[in-house]
Amino acid sequence: MGILAGKRALIVGVATERSIAWGIAEAMHAQGAELAFSYAPIFKDRVEPLAASIGSKLLMPLDVQIDDQIDATFALLKSEWGTLDILVHAVAFAPREALSGSFSANTSREAFRIAHDVSSYSFTALARGAAPLMEGRAGALLTLSYLGAERSLPSYNVMGLAKASLEANVRFLAADLGPRNIRVNAISAGPIKTLAAAGIGGFRRILAHVAQVAPMRRNVSTQDVGNAATFLCSDMAAGVTGEILYVDNGYSTVGMSFEGAGD
Ligand code: NAD
Repeated sequence: MGILAGKRALIVGVATERSIAWGIAEAMHAQGAELAFSYAPIFKDRVEPLAASIGSKLLMPLDVQIDDQIDATFALLKSEWGTLDILVHAVAFAPREALSGSFSANTSREAFRIAHDVSSYSFTALARGAAPLMEGRAGALLTLSYLGAERSLPSYNVMGLAKASLEANVRFLAADLGPRNIRVNAISAGPIKTLAAAGIGGFRRILAHVAQVAPMRRNVSTQDVGNAATFLCSDMAAGVTGEILYVDNGYSTVGMSFEGAGD
């Protein structure tokens, strides 16, 4: 029996088979969870066959910028399932022009607003919708962050600010929802080549640098993130909340490259 047997999870953020959310879905499915998926309307045709491939029948369109669609998502889950155990939030967006070049020059008021709305506020809004369905259960909310929340990196720009907000969101939601037996955590994943990542200027350079410098000398996979997510959302992590877990092959722990050191 898997560590998520008997649990029901809503996965928000699958776009393609390369999505981190899909790696999480596969890992959770392998551990016995029953899954529902939401998709941004433009990805309907890509998400439907993926969901079908693991026998998931509950799918819904959800643009996290639209409150009515958030309400409709949880109303559907309530009528179909009645309860919910896990919510995975793997959603981020900023206008492309804000994700390269000079941070100060390229961060408009509008780009700042959109990045924070889609990438951070949506987690608060989804938590508010999910919590009533988790009443009387052991709930778990999980989101995805990146090192840019804590450190400056080329091109990541306004998304770093949105991830800093998202990580604070994790801590405030954990404090707010803990008394209702709902845990809230984030995984700060190492760089992975996905659709969202392709929008970040010079992303290939970041991948190459991490593979050279990280203690494990490689990049993480969506399976690596999926397995850690499964643990965090299982009862095995019952004592863990408000936490940012790095799944980055140790990259964030290194002060400088050890390549050639001591030679
Ligand atoms: P992805 O492109 O596969 O997923 C991003 C998802 O965000 C897509 O499913 C897209 O539909 C969704 N989205 C964007 N705007 C939306 C909206 N308004 N409403 C609903 N959904 C919307 O890319 P990914 O890399 O798997 O990204 C998932 C999460 O992981 C993001 O939060 C991202 O910042 C984070 N992350 C990615 C990396 C990386 O290197 N790929 C590293 C660390 C963290």
